[in-house]
Amino acid sequence: MNTFASLREIQDEIKSGTTSCSQVVEACLNNIDKYSHLNAFLEVYPQEALAKAVEIDYKITNGTAGRLAGLVVGLKDMLCYRDHHLQAGSKILEGFESQFNGTAVQRLLDEDAIIIGRQNCDEFGMGSSNENSAFGPSVNGIGKDRVPGGSSGGSAVAVQMDMCQVSLGTDTGGSVRQPAAFTGVIGLKPTYSRISRYGLVAYASSFDSIGIISKNLQDNALILQVISGKDAFDSTVSRNPVPEFNILEEIGPSRIGYIKESLETTRVQQEVKTNTLRQLKSLQEMGHQVEAVDFPLIEYVLPTYYLLTTAEASSNLSRYDGVKYGYRSDNEESLDSFYKSTRSEGFGQEVQKRIMLGTFVLSADYCDAFYKKAQKVRRLIKDKTTELFQKYDFVVMPTAPTTAFELGTFTDNPLEMCWSDLFTVPASVSGNPAISIPNGVDKNGLPVGFQIIADDFNEQGLYALSNAIFRARDN
Ligand code: GLN
Repeated sequence: MNTFASLREIQDEIKSGTTSCSQVVEACLNNIDKYSHLNAFLEVYPQEALAKAVEIDYKITNGTAGRLAGLVVGLKDMLCYRDHHLQAGSKILEGFESQFNGTAVQRLLDEDAIIIGRQNCDEFGMGSSNENSAFGPSVNGIGKDRVPGGSSGGSAVAVQMDMCQVSLGTDTGGSVRQPAAFTGVIGLKPTYSRISRYGLVAYASSFDSIGIISKNLQDNALILQVISGKDAFDSTVSRNPVPEFNILEEIGPSRIGYIKESLETTRVQQEVKTNTLRQLKSLQEMGHQVEAVDFPLIEYVLPTYYLLTTAEASSNLSRYDGVKYGYRSDNEESLDSFYKSTRSEGFGQEVQKRIMLGTFVLSADYCDAFYKKAQKVRRLIKDKTTELFQKYDFVVMPTAPTTAFELGTFTDNPLEMCWSDLFTVPASVSGNPAISIPNGVDKNGLPVGFQIIADDFNEQGLYALSNAIFRARDN
């Protein structure tokens, strides 16, 4: 039995009696145990998952099982799962339990997916290395003391090391795509508004998106199919119909633009560049038209992103005051000092820094100069992106400028770490769907990611092109 084949193969094996859901869950639990030093899971639900597996095995025998029967899923510690702890990687939510299931989580459960645990991440999704977690960093399964990327680091490592087949992560500026690239798996950030954010801990609401990490493309597409679409609990979800993503259709000759600046910047590691150029050549050989495109606005993307996300975060995180949920300081001298101590003790350094920056850019004196200006630049970036998709079917570039860096690389200079988001942030600012797929390794054997961006709501195109790339590699 190959426990970590695609869901379809697993389901076939379950039907033919060569394996069972229980065996699949056991295999995942064994790996969680074996790789516990990677700190990918903050909490595991072995009894529950095994009991659910027995139930689903029974349903399979009766022919009443849902579409995701046989699938083991991990949840980033940002998603509400009723009666389970949720901390967003932070001390400030110590002891908090979800009162309800987030919509994506509910839809997985409705189709009989098994949730195996909650996964380590940067606090409130803020970071690119998983080092900003109150629970210590998660570590890349490739070894060599490398980070797994972030903020959905634990979620990526869990898939990388077969602790679950799929993880739900969150991507505000690259947090699903960059860790997927660093660990050599697939990471999809759908179009903003494709998936309900109900039950997702808010970081920057106009950017936040649930994303899907998997090894198998078809599984990724099926999960997107299941969790997407309108939701009475989130009025910002798109009412666009959700197509049948799980059919990996053939793709005709496409017009593909690669962002020239992404290969010219001195920040891009040589092997990332080499592997990207090799992939571009192969796309040409596959019959696609590949051209360099200029995107000079790329220079403004990071500042725009960091001004707007910190502004939104300062507002979203104001609810953590020690009264409503989680951690509360025992300093009760006055209400003011109680709030101050709770927030100083409960939030980590990076989160505090961002709340302060966000409060500053929203303050009456600076709002026009920073926040409003950044909103205007965001509009320009969106318009320019829309223009690009009139000319091209896909826009591509590396997922990240480098491969996984060593733990501690940016401890003394955390600001430098934001360069790691340089290529993922554009699709976050514009809201377009984007996928990271593996694209070989560097000289140290560390995975490189290739990023494909599509027009709004064309996730199907991302899957189809990725599938064509995988097939061309197999030949
Ligand atoms: N690394 C980026 C940040 O720190 C992106 C994080 C994310 O997508 N959640 O904001």
